[in-house]
Amino acid sequence: MTVFDPFKIHPLVPYHLCFSGLNRDDYSRKKPNLIGQLLRNPKTRFLPMWSSQNFFAKGEKPFSAMCYLGKENVARYLDKAEIIYLGFDRKREPYVCIDLSQYEEIMLEPLAEYGVFGDLRECDSSIGGDEGSILGYARAMSYWHSKNKYCASCGSHTISNNSGHTRSCENSRCGTIQFPRTDPAVIAAITFEDKILLGRQAGWPAGMLSVLAGFVEPGETPEHAVAREIFEEAGVLAKNILYRYSQPWPFPASLMLGYTGKAESPDLTVNKDEIEMASWFTREEISKFGRFDFQLPRKLSISRRLIDDWLLER
Ligand SMILES: [Zn+2]
Repeated sequence: MTVFDPFKIHPLVPYHLCFSGLNRDDYSRKKPNLIGQLLRNPKTRFLPMWSSQNFFAKGEKPFSAMCYLGKENVARYLDKAEIIYLGFDRKREPYVCIDLSQYEEIMLEPLAEYGVFGDLRECDSSIGGDEGSILGYARAMSYWHSKNKYCASCGSHTISNNSGHTRSCENSRCGTIQFPRTDPAVIAAITFEDKILLGRQAGWPAGMLSVLAGFVEPGETPEHAVAREIFEEAGVLAKNILYRYSQPWPFPASLMLGYTGKAESPDLTVNKDEIEMASWFTREEISKFGRFDFQLPRKLSISRRLIDDWLLER
């Protein structure tokens, strides 16, 4: 018999938010009484969320490990919390996201004894692949619930079902069912001879430069989106556009598709409406970034992985 093992998907991908830390257990989601069973199960691991912040263990390195709670720690919050079954881990321990955003921050003070709320985007790059992927999954699901409280067809309230994996309209004449969404975005390392194209957006941390990115538009392939975005932002015509790898990017709801490509020429026309600057950099120039107030993206991101791959190429 063939057995599907989600824990063996892409075992070599080193991204911090990309391992398959859970078996998503699609089969069990459909059981109507599953959430009740999980709330009674002493093995259930509750992952709190609050206003799109994950819950991390306290320690010397902040935001470097998840903190899960037992049912006794979350019992007081069940009446207003959004509950989402995420699946089970390698030891078959079930994981449940419990979104506490309906509670004032002061109401969460009892949880400070166990951990601290923080932005997954700011988490330490040493976070494990399994834990990072589980926290990203919880963040994406809680965000989706928070933005879909009302039906997009008729405006009525929606209610969560399928253990938190769909929301259906309460209006019986409508009944529209909504599913969690992921927005595809492309990010591309474009090179010309021995240089790579890096740019920055106005709102980024001071001095940070990265490869260029943008959302895939309706009716467009990701490869087409790469060519369009690179031309729109930098005036560069890209060719040889090849897919490399992907990364879930739940900030708030993207899937980053990483590409490489070659520029037809080094001519640049930077569109200041889209990006603050863009320029070509050699490997030697990038190796001196620390001395010139420039910095690369954090190691957590696919952008850094694309740049690092190019730096190691020669
Ligand atoms: Zn409706």
